[in-house]
Amino acid sequence: MPKPNPRHPDFPIPGGPERRARTWRAEGLLRLMENVLAVGEAPEKLIVYAALGRAARTWPAHDAIVKALLEMEEDQTLVIQSGKPVGLLRTHKDAPMVIMANCNLVGQWAKADVFYDLERKGLICWGGLTAGAWQYIGSQGVIQGTYEIFMRIAERRFKGKLEGRFILTAGLGGMGGAQPLAGRMAGAAILCVDVDAERAEKRREIGFLDEIATDLDDALARIEAARAEGRALSVALVGNAAEVFPEIAARGITPDIVTDQTSAHDLVYGYVPAGYDLDRVRRLREQNPEELIEAGRESITHHVRAMLTFQERGAEVFDNGNLIRTQAKEGGVENAFSIPIFTEAYLRPLFARAIGPFRWMALSGEESDIARIDDLLLEMFPDNKIVTNWIRLARENVPFEGLPARIAWLGHGERTELAKAVNRLVASGELAGPIAFSRDHLDAGGMAHPNIMTEGMRDGSDAIADWPLLDAMALCSSGADLVAIHSGGGGYAGYMTSAGVTVVADGTEDADTRIDLSLTNDTALGVIRYADAGYADALDEAQKKSVGHIRT
Ligand code: NAD
Repeated sequence: MPKPNPRHPDFPIPGGPERRARTWRAEGLLRLMENVLAVGEAPEKLIVYAALGRAARTWPAHDAIVKALLEMEEDQTLVIQSGKPVGLLRTHKDAPMVIMANCNLVGQWAKADVFYDLERKGLICWGGLTAGAWQYIGSQGVIQGTYEIFMRIAERRFKGKLEGRFILTAGLGGMGGAQPLAGRMAGAAILCVDVDAERAEKRREIGFLDEIATDLDDALARIEAARAEGRALSVALVGNAAEVFPEIAARGITPDIVTDQTSAHDLVYGYVPAGYDLDRVRRLREQNPEELIEAGRESITHHVRAMLTFQERGAEVFDNGNLIRTQAKEGGVENAFSIPIFTEAYLRPLFARAIGPFRWMALSGEESDIARIDDLLLEMFPDNKIVTNWIRLARENVPFEGLPARIAWLGHGERTELAKAVNRLVASGELAGPIAFSRDHLDAGGMAHPNIMTEGMRDGSDAIADWPLLDAMALCSSGADLVAIHSGGGGYAGYMTSAGVTVVADGTEDADTRIDLSLTNDTALGVIRYADAGYADALDEAQKKSVGHIRT
């Protein structure tokens, strides 16, 4: 039975033992699409997160996807072009149930204005990374990534601890909303600035945020008190980061860590310029988007200059994947790229071994299924410190949103081993229902993004999009249930290409084979991608785990 969804009453949380589709593979994908809307930011507009990231292009397209998933047989493949179903092809039972391509524009045309034009004409939509591919699990999807970044910084700069440290950031949206919880879990006092009071309230309601301050003085006093006592605390301040960051800098205060997750990638539907209220911004989106672009870029120059000031004064400052440096550089901040990107600065050694944000969702809707898999994970990987530490923390601190789900950074072989063990638990009836496995597109084999994932690659291969395309093809050949190729990214056009995958563990032997091939080949290609670029960690992993890398 679906469960009520207090946040969005018209979008119940899927679940229950009865399937409506003919197979659990199709039912699982349908529930995942329902789930991204249930946990999304504005489901009535089909928007899941990141300003325009949609689950389907239009409501008729959405309804046609539902109909196809309900009626399709196992030897068919549903083809989705930018959120609209365009064909149901006869394939075979070991082929994907769904293949999709979202927002891919031909090179010379891959520009924001072309995207906006095609979007308005209803010919394309942006699927974000995990919105269009129905893999988003709420803000918790990025919590571990954000937490691991904070902890890598702690190890490098603060003797492994963030107690008594001040983190300053902005953005409490679909992704950025994970920051207060990740900061608190890391032990820090974290201040998150968002221009929209409703976003802050929402994060507090769902347990991701502790307190909302009345003004900057109040916010800084709360942070200082927590910092002095070494107490973990998350505080939100309703304000514009392009004003608040420079004001904090002007007062001579230097946080220990500074980042930002406003929707700076989108100057029309995302970023709010300083001095503009939300109603005016909403009007201008339709009436005068050019004004918003200009004012937004100008604001971002102040926002980023303040970040650079903090950096000069010794703060650890990083870009958290929202293209704010790119916008600032276009606005004239020549040294914007002195701020490093989080992937290159902190996570590349993990990605080189294809360790990345793996996730699973209990299609039954039962939290007990996730609890059982938490135990399994601790039994299977007792020596993996990242995983065991995370699972213990997540169990205590991370509230479920929508379908109960968990994320854990696992690597090559580990993902396959876990998913196969879970498939056996589904088969034995120990779990209440099938489990869907997926990952963020921000994964070793899955993404080329020269301003985020692949910035500063050792061999200079940052902009080569062959890798995610090869990954998607390998995943189709391996029989994954859903394979997606997304492009666009922050800025919506030309910034990245990524591949996404979902496999449903329904307890069958066929699922065992699909898990084995898809999850193993996905991470194998991730290791190969970094080995090919010459990373020692990847070359070591390739040799130790025999991933099939060919060296020339
Ligand atoms: P979102 O649109 O859901 O939320 C953005 C938030 O920023 C909103 O709450 C908005 O009110 C706030 N905001 C906008 N302008 C502001 C300003 N000037 N000052 C203060 N607040 C402001 O977006 P999201 O899904 O949270 O994503 C945020 C950014 O992070 C996007 O650019 C996205 O592409 C990027 N992102 C990065 C990663 C990663 O792996 N690091 C993952 C996903 C998304």
